[in-house]
Amino acid sequence: MLLAAAIGCGTERTTPAPTPATIGTANAEAARSLLDPTTALPPRAEVVSLTDALAVAAAQSGRGAEGATLTRLAADLRARLFRIDHADGDAREAIELYGAEARSRLGSEEACEADRRRALLAGELAGDPAASFRELFLAERRHSAALGASSGHAGSRCLATIADALSRAGAYRPTIVAMRALERDGAAAAESGTRAAAVAGPAPTPPASASPEQDAPPAASAALADATRNVVVSPREDAVGKGPVKVLSVERFGSEKGARVVINLSAPTTFQVGTLGADQAKGKDARVFVDLARASAKGVAHEFEVGGAVRRVRIGAREDGTRVVLDLAAALYRRVFYLPDPFRVVIDVSTRPPVRDEGPDKAGHRTLGRVAIDAGHGGVDDGAVGPTGLREKDITLDIAHRVAPLLSHELHMETLLTRDTDTYVPLELRTARANAFHADLFVSVHCNASENGQARGVQTFVFDRSRDPEGVEARVAARENAPRGRPAAIDARALDDQMASLFTNLGGADMAAKSRHVAELLHRSALASLTPRYPDTKDQGIRTAGFYVLVGADMPAVLFETSFISNPEDEARLSTADFRQKLADSIANAIRAYRDGK
Ligand SMILES: [Zn+2]
Repeated sequence: MLLAAAIGCGTERTTPAPTPATIGTANAEAARSLLDPTTALPPRAEVVSLTDALAVAAAQSGRGAEGATLTRLAADLRARLFRIDHADGDAREAIELYGAEARSRLGSEEACEADRRRALLAGELAGDPAASFRELFLAERRHSAALGASSGHAGSRCLATIADALSRAGAYRPTIVAMRALERDGAAAAESGTRAAAVAGPAPTPPASASPEQDAPPAASAALADATRNVVVSPREDAVGKGPVKVLSVERFGSEKGARVVINLSAPTTFQVGTLGADQAKGKDARVFVDLARASAKGVAHEFEVGGAVRRVRIGAREDGTRVVLDLAAALYRRVFYLPDPFRVVIDVSTRPPVRDEGPDKAGHRTLGRVAIDAGHGGVDDGAVGPTGLREKDITLDIAHRVAPLLSHELHMETLLTRDTDTYVPLELRTARANAFHADLFVSVHCNASENGQARGVQTFVFDRSRDPEGVEARVAARENAPRGRPAAIDARALDDQMASLFTNLGGADMAAKSRHVAELLHRSALASLTPRYPDTKDQGIRTAGFYVLVGADMPAVLFETSFISNPEDEARLSTADFRQKLADSIANAIRAYRDGK
């Protein structure tokens, strides 16, 4: 239809015969309307023809500004297609077009912008934030000479945006050796000023899976884009079934500073997120809504009071699914993502931006007024149980109760225990409580377990892709993620892929470096505290895995596996107050060290 409007009307007598310029103009208008993120795209073939027509018109109009404008439109449209269909060919086409545009506008702000978009897309295609870092770094070097780096990027919006993205993607900064090589490439790029950088090759895994129909930043650029304040991560259309889905229950936690609503579903489905501003004339609050495709909410209450930041949750049927509406007390930051197995959609709202820059001050101190201590398991969930029957849930609560007074009396910090008694608290609500408390740090306390009972020692985890998705790390995560202590039979590799996607899309890189730093302090502190009295304490290292309890924590967060309750000697130690006190001391000492800028 679009092309018919643009090209096929030339036979009408009242219309002048189309020239390349008029065709270009009509197609440009069509492309602009399709680039509006609220516009649904027509069938793929039509969009592809339109991008091709734009590229042809650009070539015909020569290397001037008009040609460059058409090239940009073609590139943007291809990029949008890629973010919807995930076909690598579209990304490569767009990268090519952005490169052509950058070369044709040499030395201009627009050239920098084309190169910036090319770099982000190359990173997305590679499915690798480190590739984004590299491409952006080279783009910055390539354009900073022409755009006046001497003025500290102040004169160029494009360079300022790239510099900002690079600083936020700092966790993906290459090693010193790789950085030196990159600096050399950068120097060459600066010299050429124009040469298109080598595009990162596609990775074997598909790009991460933000749903591009929404107003969320796409896939890998989520960690870089300014839109991190409003993050949406939905499963891909082709990753979910086609059958009906039921809303099973709705959990919610609200406070003045933030709230979390968790929608438990019978099967995975996609979702879209929208917002509506407050309408005072009609007495309506600001709202966030989530449309769950194919879902029915029969048998579930249609309205829940929440309190605090979210006044209430309302659930209504729609033609093709269910709409969940949160009536907000104020305009808030929002973040909507899913957790697999069992599938649930998590809606977070907060008065605090999820990504903040909170490095040490000039004196080296960090602001650390509030700490959340999470005693693993509880209530119906015993956690791991030792050979003589010692229960993980009792040990973790006892350690939390020993840490809390150290933090409040000695370090003068406000402390939140995500549970204070032997009660069951779902994993998602633990993070929700810490987020709503505006905790500056989250420490989840656990006891480790191994199948054969031989393993011993101290292990500290941060949330990230596990290095061995079918190995020990993933098994620890599967056990700790199990609902009510019942490990599910799941595909560890598939789960790890999904968790890695969540990690990327929730801006995990930003927090990961800080979490790893806390993990290092805690791990060292634990070994220092235990070994004088227990010299055979084993160092099981700092590891990474996808723990649900750490997903969506908007502060540095670590999971501390104090010792192996499955091992008879470790179990015997865990049963003594002395050992548990030493573990509590080590947590408090690590938190003090982190605050003091260590
Ligand atoms: Zn545990």
